[in-house]
Amino acid sequence: MYRLPILPGYFFIVINKEDYKSVWQSVLSNLSQRIKHSDFLTWFPQSAIIDLKEANLIIGTSTSFRYETLQRQYREVVLVEVQKVVPGIKEITFEIDGSLHEKDERVVSLKKLMPEEKKKQESGEIELIEGITTKILNPKYTLDNFVVGPDNQLAHAAAVAVSRKPGEAYNPLFVYGGVGLGKTHLLQAVGNEIHKRSNRRKIIYATSERFTNEVIEAIRSRKTEKLREKYRQVDVLMIDDIQFLANKEQTQVEFFHTFNTLYESKKQIIISSDRPPKDLDSLEPRLRSRFEWGMMVDIGFPDFETRVAILQTKCQEKEIIIASDVLSFIASNVTESVRELEGVLNQAIALYELKHITPTVKNVAPMVKKLHPKTALVGTGEDSGKKVISTVDDIVVEVAGHYKLLPEDIMGESRRADISLARQISMYIAKRYFKMTHQFIGEQIGKRQHTTAMHACEKIERELEKDRQLKRDINALLHDMGVI
Ligand code: ADP
Ligand code: MG
Repeated sequence: MYRLPILPGYFFIVINKEDYKSVWQSVLSNLSQRIKHSDFLTWFPQSAIIDLKEANLIIGTSTSFRYETLQRQYREVVLVEVQKVVPGIKEITFEIDGSLHEKDERVVSLKKLMPEEKKKQESGEIELIEGITTKILNPKYTLDNFVVGPDNQLAHAAAVAVSRKPGEAYNPLFVYGGVGLGKTHLLQAVGNEIHKRSNRRKIIYATSERFTNEVIEAIRSRKTEKLREKYRQVDVLMIDDIQFLANKEQTQVEFFHTFNTLYESKKQIIISSDRPPKDLDSLEPRLRSRFEWGMMVDIGFPDFETRVAILQTKCQEKEIIIASDVLSFIASNVTESVRELEGVLNQAIALYELKHITPTVKNVAPMVKKLHPKTALVGTGEDSGKKVISTVDDIVVEVAGHYKLLPEDIMGESRRADISLARQISMYIAKRYFKMTHQFIGEQIGKRQHTTAMHACEKIERELEKDRQLKRDINALLHDMGVI
């Protein structure tokens, strides 16, 4: 990198094209220290320096969705960081460059900038104590990625307290709530946290089914003494879904004794259930009353805001961006279980990954509908009947809506990158799917020459061959227009 003086006091900056990547890498590396981790991973993937015009550095990003947020929220901080690396830069401009994707050699891999993140993802499952581990905890469940809202705040707080001081804070901890509301997540998260703080602690997580099977097996093979020993030497015992011990008398007796031994020696016991202890009718009364000795917390269904936050967290974990109107739509319509919420999200992600279609309210709606076919959906808008698209104007309105632009922008003269791209896409769709002539398309879209329309179509066809993101985007658009 070197500078040529043009006028006194004014420098013309030159960065060689080969240096773009290393400059951007330094900038990103500094930015990652300043911006919230999850935001950084959301907005900065698939970005690169693509050009330098005098003192204006042009930074490309792959989608209009990222472009808007970068432009609105990150211009200043990015400029400050850029200036630390290349002091002469006066200005930065974001542009959409659909050809930027994870494998593009101009793009810096964010994961490489964050080794610890990578390690976490690759670590897989952890083994607790040899011989004593009955169930391996799933490291994806943590206290950090459990989204807290008014309806589960108390349960989360109790879980945090227990994981800091097992056996001391609340014993037993009894967590109850409906299906798919996060009980297993919370129990496993406590296990993971305790293990992380001290890997010498012996932890057992077992579903009550598993516990029952072990008791049955021990009775069958006359090894009940051994089983008792195993369970009684742990520091933390978690039994998930205790309601399934109903009517299993022998197992309840075993559990009762284990409970007493652990409790007396101040070992932590955590239990989950689909209902509070007093409603566990088929459990022995002496067991029920013990569950009430410690702390009882219920997990309720999260409110709308918490549901949206859960969806956002899951998207960030999967490093996938789904437009916020789609997330709100899912959150407004899935109102019974977080598991269902996640189920719809996973289907939307599959649509994106397998069929190359960007999730939109319209294409996600049937997934939601399938869950509860009888309930009317909220927020699908006016368009349950298919609209008919037949003119260039119709196409332009659709494309503009998809890219959050105005139809006038596309019809007009602006050469801004995102507008030009939307204009070219409109021309391409008119030609390829509506068989209009270049001549006609050119005339209709801002009175342009037929060659302009022709070049636009050729350009989009070329881009589609190498740019999967653009392809997904246009597929979603065509899908919404009812064309494919
Ligand atoms: P339960 O055991 O109560 O039936 P789970 O713990 O299996 O429910 O939760 C179902 C899914 O929902 C899991 O993938 C879990 O990660 C997710 N989930 C539930 N509540 C939350 C939350 N508050 N924050 C993040 N994820 C949650
Ligand atoms: Mg569960």
